[in-house]
Amino acid sequence: MSADFDVAIVGFGPAGATLACLLGAKGLRTFVVDRLTGVYDKPRAFAMDHEIMRVFQNIELAEALAPHVAPFSASEHYGANGQLIRRLTMVDPPYPLGWTPSMVFRQPPLEAALREKARETPGVVVSLGEELVSLAQDKGKVTLSLQRDGGTREITARYVVGCDGASSTVRRILGIKHEDLGFDEPWLVVDVGVNAGGAAKCPATSAQFCEPSRPTTFLIGVGEHRRWEIMLLPGESPQEVENDAAVWKLLSRWLTPQDGTLWRRASYRFHALVASRWREGRVFLAGDAAHQQPPFLGQGMCQGIRDVANLAWKLAAVLQGRAGDALLDTYGAERSSHVKRLTATIEHIGRNICERDPEKARIRDADLIALAGGSVKSVPRQDLIPPLDCGLLVPQAAAGTLFPQPRVTVQGKKVLLDDIAGNGLRWVLGAQADAGRVAALEAVRLSGARIVQVGGEGWPEADGIVAGWFTRHGAIAALVRPDHYVYGVASTLEGINALATSFDAACRI
Ligand SMILES: Cc1cc2nc3c(=O)[nH]c(=O)nc-3n(C[C@H](O)[C@H](O)[C@H](O)COP(=O)(O)OP(=O)(O)OC[C@H]3O[C@@H](n4cnc5c(N)ncnc54)[C@H](O)[C@@H]3O)c2cc1C
Repeated sequence: MSADFDVAIVGFGPAGATLACLLGAKGLRTFVVDRLTGVYDKPRAFAMDHEIMRVFQNIELAEALAPHVAPFSASEHYGANGQLIRRLTMVDPPYPLGWTPSMVFRQPPLEAALREKARETPGVVVSLGEELVSLAQDKGKVTLSLQRDGGTREITARYVVGCDGASSTVRRILGIKHEDLGFDEPWLVVDVGVNAGGAAKCPATSAQFCEPSRPTTFLIGVGEHRRWEIMLLPGESPQEVENDAAVWKLLSRWLTPQDGTLWRRASYRFHALVASRWREGRVFLAGDAAHQQPPFLGQGMCQGIRDVANLAWKLAAVLQGRAGDALLDTYGAERSSHVKRLTATIEHIGRNICERDPEKARIRDADLIALAGGSVKSVPRQDLIPPLDCGLLVPQAAAGTLFPQPRVTVQGKKVLLDDIAGNGLRWVLGAQADAGRVAALEAVRLSGARIVQVGGEGWPEADGIVAGWFTRHGAIAALVRPDHYVYGVASTLEGINALATSFDAACRI
C-alpha cells in the first residue's frame, strides 16, 4: 500500500494551490503538478465571497491578499427602458463570517500568493512545467505518468485530485462526461485600467444593463480596474469584436481611448456544465474540472475553493484513520448538489440579463418590480448562495449552513475566532453551555473535536453574532466541520452527546 505521496494534485490554479495548502497544513505528503510554469498575468475571476476569504485566512494568506482585495460595490440592474429593476448589495456590518461578504480582487497576485504559500508549506512538493499524460489505479494507490521535455516519469499517490481546469485531462482519462445545465451564450470580456478621468466617467456602482439591444455588465474592480462583459449578437464573430477599434466602439458609451488602457479582451462562451461523477475510485475532480458556470454572480473560482475546502478535511480524516473511505463519497454528493442549485440561480439571473426580445424584456422588468412589491429593494448577494442540503449533515435547518466567525476578545485584543480556535472539527458552545460537562462526554472526547466557547465562561464576542445565531436556531452548541459547515446543533447535554455519537458513526461507515 505504500505510495510516494498521500495526495497528488493535478493543476496549480486557485483550486489546486488552495488544496495543496490545506492538505500540507494537515500534515499530508502532497504533490502538485502543473504543465505551465507561471501564473496567467491577466485577471479572469473578479469577485469572491467571504466564505472563500475565510479559507484564505485559514491558510494564513489574509495579510498578503489585503492590498489586492476590495469590497464589491452594489450591483444595479437596469431594464429595457433604463429603469432600475434589481439591486444586489451586501449585508450591513457586523459581517457574519468576519469578512466583507462580497469582494473584488486581483487574480494574478492572489494566485501568486497561493502558489508561494503552497511551496513553503512543509510536506508539499511542487513540480511545474510537467504534464500529466495518464493515470492508472489499483486497490491501494494511483500511478501518474508525467511528461517533461519528452521524458516520462511515474509517481504514486494514495489519492489524486484533478484540479486541471475546464479541459481537464483527468476528467478525460476517467471518461467522465458533463451534464449540460443548458446555458451557452457568447460574450466578450474587456478589462480596462482607467485613469482618473476615465474613472469619473464610469457608473458609480457595478451595473447590469439588461438592454435587449446588447446586454452588458459593468464591474468596478480593485483600484483602476474596470471590466465590461458584453454579449455578442447573432452573426458577430469573436475575431471581429476583439480588435482595439471594435472594443473602443463598444465602450464608447462610457469611455474614449484617452480614458485608460485596454488590458485584455477575450471572448468566451458562458457555459453551465457539471461533471456527471466527481469521483472514480481514488481519483476526484475539483474546480473548473468539475463544473463551469456563467460569471454573473462571480462564482466559478468560489465553487472550486468550496470544493477543495470540502474535500481536504475528508481526505485527511480518511488517510489519518479517523474515517472510513465512504466519507469521501459525501464530497461529490454535497458539492454536486450545491453547484447545481447555485448554477440554476446564476442561470436564472443570466437568462433575465440576456433577454433579447424587447417585449419579453418589458414583461421581465414589470415582473421583477412586481415581485419586489412595486419598488426595487436591495437584496444581499449572499442570500443567493444556498446551504448544503445533503451528505454529512443531520436533518435540521441549521445543518449545512456556514457557522459564523465572530470577533472575540482575547487578552484585550479583538481577533477573528478562527485565528485562535483553528479550522478543525469543533464544538462551538454558546454562553449557556457548560463546557466542562460537554468536555466530559465520552463521545465528545472520542471525536477529537476542539471545544470552543463564545460568551459565558468563554471568549467574549464583540458583536453578538454567535449569541444571535444560537438564539435563532434555539441551540446552545453546534458541531462545526473543518470546512465551517454545521453538521448539527443541540440544545441540551443529551443532544450534544447524540450529535457526537451520530457524527462518529457517519464517519466510520
Ligand atoms: C470571464 C471570466 C470571469 C470570471 N469571473 C469570476 C469571478 O468573478 N469569480 C469567480 O469566483 N470566478 C470567476 N471566473 C472563473 C474562474 O476564473 C475559474 O473558475 C478559476 O480560475 C478556475 O480555477 P481552477 O483552479 O479550477 O482551474 P484553472 O485556473 O484553469 O487551473 C488549472 C490548471 O491545471 C493545469 N493543467 C491542465 N491540464 C494539465 C495536465 N494535464 N497536467 C498538468 N497540469 C495541467 C493548467 O495549466 C492550469 O494551471 C471567471 C472566469 C472567466 C473566464
